[in-house]
Amino acid sequence: MKIVIFGPPGSGKGTYASRLFDLIKTPHISTGDLVRQEIKDRTETGKKIEAYTRRGVLVPDDVVIELLKKRISQPDCASGFILDGFPRTIPQAEALGKISPIEIVINLDVPDEVIIERLSSRLTCKSCGEIYNRRFLKPKVEGICDKCGGQLYTREDDKPEVIRERLKTYQRQTQPLLDYYKERKLVENVRNTEVAVPPEIIVSKIMKIINARR
Ligand SMILES: [Zn+2]
Repeated sequence: MKIVIFGPPGSGKGTYASRLFDLIKTPHISTGDLVRQEIKDRTETGKKIEAYTRRGVLVPDDVVIELLKKRISQPDCASGFILDGFPRTIPQAEALGKISPIEIVINLDVPDEVIIERLSSRLTCKSCGEIYNRRFLKPKVEGICDKCGGQLYTREDDKPEVIRERLKTYQRQTQPLLDYYKERKLVENVRNTEVAVPPEIIVSKIMKIINARR
């Protein structure tokens, strides 16, 4: 199955994608990771990408699509993949359609207020980056990291006003794509209105959708 997963920041997208991998063995592909890997490996493409980033311009679509094409032609993608972070625009969706047509679009539909509540109670360790939650993943000692004893704080990104802005940007960016895929009858909504929901519940909903379309 060739799957694209859409979900606002804080929707748990990454967690679900990696659990799906355990269940259906289709790799989770994040174009952000692909780009970072190229840079790390010092490939020709990696050097080009770095030059764009230095100039403060976005990496052009054809570069990202080339990377994606290379990645999905690997043997582990023979039975499909779960794409995350791509496509972000209609031209990207069209390009993707030409190299490998998507079969399902999973749209994680979480109300803004739920995301805000979830993210704004998040705590991050200053030293090791471990993530906790004031409500459902508390450290053993308040304000202190269980792992390294570092101090916990609320990241700038997790403040309600910043989250609201990020959600707006996300919606503006994603809505046209959802419309594009809806026209093609590929979108499946997975609604989640609870702040703390065990990942396996959402994953089993997604699995039902996948199995119904297989
Ligand atoms: Zn720590």
